[in-house]
Amino acid sequence: MNPATMLAPLTEETKMKETRAKAINSLLIHSGRIIDPSQRIDETGSLLISNGKIAWPGKGEVTSPQPEYDVLNAKGLIVCPGLIDLHCHLRQPGFEEKETIATGTQAAARGGFTTICCMPNTNPPLDNQAVIDYVKSTAAAEGVVRVLPIGCISRGRKGKELADMGELASAGVIAYSDDGEPVIDSRLMRQAMDRSRAFGLPIIDHCEDKALTEGGLMNQGVISTKLGLGAMPAAAEEIMVARDLALAELTGARLHIAHVSTEGSVDLIRHAKQKGIKVTAEVTPHHLTLTEEKVLGYDTNAKVNPPLRTKKDIQALIQGLNDNTIDAIATDHAPHTEADKRCEFALAPFGISGLETALGSLMSLVHAGQLTLTTLISKLTGEPAKIIGDRYGKLGTLAIGTLADITIFDPDREWVVNTRAFASQGKNTPLAGSVLKGKVMATIFQGKLVYKDDSLKLEVKGESIKGGV
Ligand SMILES: [Zn+2]
Repeated sequence: MNPATMLAPLTEETKMKETRAKAINSLLIHSGRIIDPSQRIDETGSLLISNGKIAWPGKGEVTSPQPEYDVLNAKGLIVCPGLIDLHCHLRQPGFEEKETIATGTQAAARGGFTTICCMPNTNPPLDNQAVIDYVKSTAAAEGVVRVLPIGCISRGRKGKELADMGELASAGVIAYSDDGEPVIDSRLMRQAMDRSRAFGLPIIDHCEDKALTEGGLMNQGVISTKLGLGAMPAAAEEIMVARDLALAELTGARLHIAHVSTEGSVDLIRHAKQKGIKVTAEVTPHHLTLTEEKVLGYDTNAKVNPPLRTKKDIQALIQGLNDNTIDAIATDHAPHTEADKRCEFALAPFGISGLETALGSLMSLVHAGQLTLTTLISKLTGEPAKIIGDRYGKLGTLAIGTLADITIFDPDREWVVNTRAFASQGKNTPLAGSVLKGKVMATIFQGKLVYKDDSLKLEVKGESIKGGV
């Protein structure tokens, strides 16, 4: 079945298709609080988009009404660069029953993301030019936001021999990873790092010592003992983080640590950065906001790898964001079918569908005073953009002349997570039914509105423009 057809009955989706079809040449967003950490902008003002690019910087208001523009009134809303997700799983090719590039990018748009980087654990895996070309052309034809592929480190993700990293670089990958699996063989990882330097691309590692996590289903601690579930100790992650940091130091390669989840990993990365090792790191919204207690009750939607940890780990991860030990927040969006997750805890696959709840759940940290709004936005825009680099254009900024990728959100709006309304085929989230405070109101990709909340009014050109412009 074509997933796009499955979504057709959603009236909002149908409306959005019509909106997309009618490309907006000029759009004025006014009266919003514009926050662009890349330019140190935080002020109320207007933003003008013309021919897909930012034409007016965020300072001050456009003084006179301009009848030739479509207009969005962003009063009370935050206007920021389009969010960037360094880590998601789009499942196509090979696992289209879980997600497709079409549904995954629609979920991204609803979540405020205009750029998403997809992991190569598809079938076939993204280990050669033909599959990368397939992902890029499918994204161009069916996707609604930018999809940047990540290529495999090893052929077939088997951890035995290197993929053709040069071919992958020329095919346009932005990094190399065997995510889902660690690269167990230290010698192979050293070779991968050596090779990656020639292409200036980072190695993204899923840090897990499999000998220590075998049979593990959740974090090792009091709760795993109480539930009698196989456990994954923090040390399993930290051992691999330490090894990879040592190899990055040895080779001089760029290393990016995926989904950091423990206090010990944060300490190791902080120390490595102080030593000048070229390391960056990401953390997921779920590791920042949920603890292992979510597994009480055996909710398979809380089964994720690395596992949800403890309050102490969360505090260390937040500290890591605030002192720039951790550079970026990435969703690790991992959609699964309901049948996949409707089984006993031990048999369920790992993963949380995260694109559509990311901003709402992360805003809880802002409301609690643990992150500033500017820091949060920076970790979702300018910082991941630095890791990607400029080969796909300048991302993560509202600078004049750059592609108009923009997210508009209401920091205070409360909404209930209704997985039935997800664009993602993956309804697997432990947040189903929760109330989140902070909602994406509109997502603009290259000047086109690719998502808009029903309550936000777009005044199309020719109609009257209200005051305040
Ligand atoms: Zn992973």
